[in-house]
Amino acid sequence: MERKLRVGVAGCGPAGLAAALLLRRDGHEVRLFERFERPQPLGSGLMIQPTGLAVLDELGLAGRLGAVGARVDRLFGKAAPSGRVVLDVRYAALGALRGLGVHRASLFQVLYDAAVEAGIAVETGRAVTGAAREGNARRLSFADGGRSDAFDLVVDALGSGSPLAPACGRALDYGALWASLDWPEGAGFDPRALEQRYRAASIMVGVLPLGPGVGGARPQAALFWSLRADRLAAWREAGLAAWKSHVAALWPACAPLLDQIASPEQMTFARYTHRTVPRPVEPGLVHIGDSWHSASPQLGQGANMAMLDAYALAQALRDGKDLSAGLRDYVRLRRGHIRLYQAITAAVTPVYQSDGRALPFLRDRLVGLLGRFGPTAWAQAMLVAGAAGAPLRPLGLKPGRLEERTPELVG
Ligand SMILES: Cc1cc2nc3c(=O)[nH]c(=O)nc-3n(C[C@H](O)[C@H](O)[C@H](O)COP(=O)(O)OP(=O)(O)OC[C@H]3O[C@@H](n4cnc5c(N)ncnc54)[C@H](O)[C@@H]3O)c2cc1C
Repeated sequence: MERKLRVGVAGCGPAGLAAALLLRRDGHEVRLFERFERPQPLGSGLMIQPTGLAVLDELGLAGRLGAVGARVDRLFGKAAPSGRVVLDVRYAALGALRGLGVHRASLFQVLYDAAVEAGIAVETGRAVTGAAREGNARRLSFADGGRSDAFDLVVDALGSGSPLAPACGRALDYGALWASLDWPEGAGFDPRALEQRYRAASIMVGVLPLGPGVGGARPQAALFWSLRADRLAAWREAGLAAWKSHVAALWPACAPLLDQIASPEQMTFARYTHRTVPRPVEPGLVHIGDSWHSASPQLGQGANMAMLDAYALAQALRDGKDLSAGLRDYVRLRRGHIRLYQAITAAVTPVYQSDGRALPFLRDRLVGLLGRFGPTAWAQAMLVAGAAGAPLRPLGLKPGRLEERTPELVG
């Protein structure tokens, strides 16, 4: 499309920031809006997959993020008390591809700095409440009663609670408590693995290496503890000491991490929703990232899919003959991958987070075995890497190009 658009991007998460950068690069006039006074990322760790890295690489940012994160070669989990290996996924099954553990703040900072460097205007302290149509254009409205300039296209990147998207889906029973802590040198954790311990599917503790972060001196770790949302109050009431002894009994190596937690405020509770907006495009409005589709982070795909959405949107607008054809193409480029991962995540989540007994019983006997045989080990690695359904092919992206430019990601 020759025409350059006036684009209002709502939300400074990975989807909004990546979309703003890509659309700006194509010559569109872009403004970003964010509710926080100072843009800030909430939460703890994220796994960036070869799919997300492919987009970051196109933006020239994979090396920057790689330098502040931690390379992840393996996802490894054991059941207690049996000690059975119930998860063993190695990226090496896919050759030189790897995952990257990062603090959410690192991904945000790398993208946000690039947006500022690109001269993209960011309006902060603007809580979006609507995006009303005005002829062929749309204007954002804000909680303070203000309205934006008119835009040819509003990109809704406001996340899973977006006020611009229709309500749909359901909140999941289980979420998790997360804390960012110093990496416990010498405690026996593999610095190249996301490790977890489970008891059935109702109890799970995990440790993800995060790297030093932007401007950080020491490597960090995310500690997460699976918890049913309706048990959060009881967790607070029982007190930290009771919880710590519970975790230490399940996985004694966690002691040096637990020692760093002095108050419950260091732990952030994150709840997940599973939802897919059926029609992600309306006249002059497009939903990307979690505002289109969100799920539990069991497979670690959300931020990666958000960046793929952003890339697909920019590409479709570039190649489409006009705005509406471009938006149709955007949906076509992403819909299959999103359907596939939403369905698989819905199926996998209760295997690791639920009150059921049958699924974890089968998991404990089957999933570890799958990691031992070539074809199933490969299929598991493809799934975790976000590569099932070949999402990069229609976008002309190749994960293979990452290693040449970001040697720190290669084993
Ligand atoms: C605990 C947890 C762990 C996760 N782990 C992983 C992982 O390992 N790998 C992975 O890929 N994904 C993971 N995810 C999912 C991932 O975080 C999301 O899929 C991703 O952040 C979606 O990006 P987004 O930009 O679409 O939305 P968001 O990151 O939610 O960003 C939305 C932005 O919009 C702003 N905003 C919201 N409402 C308004 C408003 N009304 N007005 C103005 N601004 C507003 C917010 O402040 C925010 O800046 C995890 C999620 C959670 C909760």
